[in-house]
Amino acid sequence: MAEKRDYYEVLGVSRGATDDDLKKSYRRLARQYHPDINKEPHAEEHFKEVNEAYEVLSDADRRAAYDRFGHAASQMGGNGDPFGGFGQSPFGDIFETFFGGSTNRRRTGPQRGADLQATIDITFLESMFGAERDIELTRQETCDSCHGTRMKDGATPPRCTVCNGTGEVRRVQQTILGQFMTAQPCSSCRGEGVTITEPCDACRGRGRVTRARSINVTVPAGIDENQTLRYTGQGEASTNGGPNGNLYIKVRIEPHEIFTRQGRNVLMTAGVNVAQAALGDAISVETIDGPVIFNLPAGTQSGEKFRLRSHGVPSGNDRGDQIVTVQVLIPHELTPEQRELFEQLADTMGSEIQPQPHQRSFFDKVKDALGV
Ligand SMILES: [Zn+2]
Ligand SMILES: [Zn+2]
Repeated sequence: MAEKRDYYEVLGVSRGATDDDLKKSYRRLARQYHPDINKEPHAEEHFKEVNEAYEVLSDADRRAAYDRFGHAASQMGGNGDPFGGFGQSPFGDIFETFFGGSTNRRRTGPQRGADLQATIDITFLESMFGAERDIELTRQETCDSCHGTRMKDGATPPRCTVCNGTGEVRRVQQTILGQFMTAQPCSSCRGEGVTITEPCDACRGRGRVTRARSINVTVPAGIDENQTLRYTGQGEASTNGGPNGNLYIKVRIEPHEIFTRQGRNVLMTAGVNVAQAALGDAISVETIDGPVIFNLPAGTQSGEKFRLRSHGVPSGNDRGDQIVTVQVLIPHELTPEQRELFEQLADTMGSEIQPQPHQRSFFDKVKDALGV
């Protein structure tokens, strides 16, 4: 076995790294090397290494032991792969959609159980700040009575006597062209190599039972449209002793009446009246955090954009911005008093129109610069 790398080195953090540093680094690396995503030859190896390092360093006791004794400490206990077995990784792992990634991996022996898919709908604000849902699903689970052996009391099924446990029957056929050896699945055990002599009562010898389950789903803050949550091991049980499949949850986000999202920013349009635009005003602007006061400068033009820092999409400890586009609203109807005031205004402003420079595109500017 090759010399083990230092766990801190594996995660690319200093020895004084905080839990948060560890988690961030781990998530980044786990995503980078996840075998469903990364098809490079050593990805899986790196993935395991990263998982092992994080498993030890994220546990205060085991980290302290590792700091004192190095890798010798980890041989005293612990089992390795946090993604293995039934259940989810410590924080509910999130990956974009990678359906099919695992099904085309070649495997010999036990097959992974089927993946399950579900869809949940959340509001725009829930997509910003996170949400929880219970989803109901029906899935095939390993039978509790026989633990999947399919035999009464969980006994090990005896080998098929017809094929001697190989699952196939070989026959030599004599033909005019010579001898042919053919191998066919054993019809007695249907190629399984074992005979269920005393079937388990609970599952009637199937090894799996159908169960209705309620799964608690945590949607992380800042999730975007078309992202999929993955719950490792929460899919269907394997038919032949392999690991469970995964549960993939597609998250749909209902559009909001006034907010839209663009990357990490939240966009909204604020209508102001002519006087506010001309004179400036302290206006109350709706954000996803509630209303905030914004000082609209005097002389604001319709279509002008302003940035409200850190009122955008949450991502980690950080936030995007809210971009407010001002739209100057010209009144459709005037009260007699307003009409009089506008008429006075018109007198002071004159009646000449002011031709505006043509709005030149980026390409026009490039052309000018190049002199073409
Ligand atoms: Zn059973
Ligand atoms: Zn057989």
